[in-house]
Amino acid sequence: MENTKELRTWLDDMNLAHPLVIAGPCSAETEEQVLKIAHELKDSDVNYFRAGIWKPRTRPGMFEGVGEIGLRWLKKVKEETGMKTCTEVANAAHVKLAIENEVDLLWIGARSTVSPFIMQEIADALQGTDKIVLVKNPVNPDLALWLGGIERLYTAGIKNLGAIHRGFSTYEKSKYRNIPEWQLAIEFQNRFPDLPLICDPSHITGNRAMIFDVSQTALDLNLDGLMIETHTDPDNAWSDAAQQVTPDSLKQIMKDLKIRKETNTEAEYQISLDNLRAQINVVDNQMIDLLGKRMKVADEIGALKKDKNVAVLQSKRWNEILGNMILEGESKGLSEEFVLKMFKAIHQESINHQEKIINGL
Ligand code: PEP
Ligand code: MN
Repeated sequence: MENTKELRTWLDDMNLAHPLVIAGPCSAETEEQVLKIAHELKDSDVNYFRAGIWKPRTRPGMFEGVGEIGLRWLKKVKEETGMKTCTEVANAAHVKLAIENEVDLLWIGARSTVSPFIMQEIADALQGTDKIVLVKNPVNPDLALWLGGIERLYTAGIKNLGAIHRGFSTYEKSKYRNIPEWQLAIEFQNRFPDLPLICDPSHITGNRAMIFDVSQTALDLNLDGLMIETHTDPDNAWSDAAQQVTPDSLKQIMKDLKIRKETNTEAEYQISLDNLRAQINVVDNQMIDLLGKRMKVADEIGALKKDKNVAVLQSKRWNEILGNMILEGESKGLSEEFVLKMFKAIHQESINHQEKIINGL
């Protein structure tokens, strides 16, 4: 992908004073539900009205979307509210129907991005379209796979492109439904700074209470927009009930978010600073997470030592760790003094943990 600047023309041309906003229900359920939500979102910052028509569900027997009939409801949304519309497409038949029914923007879901066959089928079906196409990240944290999917569309002559960061599934327990792994979004921006990148805090959090914070982080990291699932009766939604917000909450979220436009050098400085601070926060959170993991392993070692009646402190092992870490640190530009201090503190915490376990505290 050579001329990535061209890929964001569709977004630049919109000349928005705020990030791009896509909102609407996870799923289209009934004509009344779709139109009710659309009318409540009409006078807001929403640029595109979303509704899933074909729903990829984890297990069979769950609500899999209303299908083709929902496209007629989206047409009505356009006629009655003037809002542009979007939906997820997952195969060539979906693409054909969505284009025939004048859906304005199509997105490709996380479960499709993981499959190069599906991505190629969709790219072939979209060949040369001037529709906006956004590609969600694959469910697993694989930047190359994400970019590969986008590249397939680019090669098929689709020039109005963008991506959606919706978090990554993980085996480990987490407060998120899909962990954000912000460093991947940052890496994405470093590789393709002009490709619009939008955040989907709904699928990252899985929980409406956390949507504001994740949205603010996304904006601080200079992402270009937000896709937020919105429903007039979230608790009774047919899919993703816990993560949907009401139209009023969405408006409040948009009002409360710190949104800045570059206007002068002072503002530019502030934006750069906020962006770098957001990056530091990402790394700090990763460090705490890793230290927590390290202490869990130390606890397990403590339990083993207790079993075998072995002393907590074993200096030979400790000196080995230190020597290795000083070398590693040097290669990353960290002073020996700093590495020593840091590892002494970490080691002390491990000993405290192990002593607690050995003494049954
Ligand atoms: C959706 O947007 O409703 C959806 C199914 O998202 P994802 O592909 O991110 O799971
Ligand atoms: Mn959803």
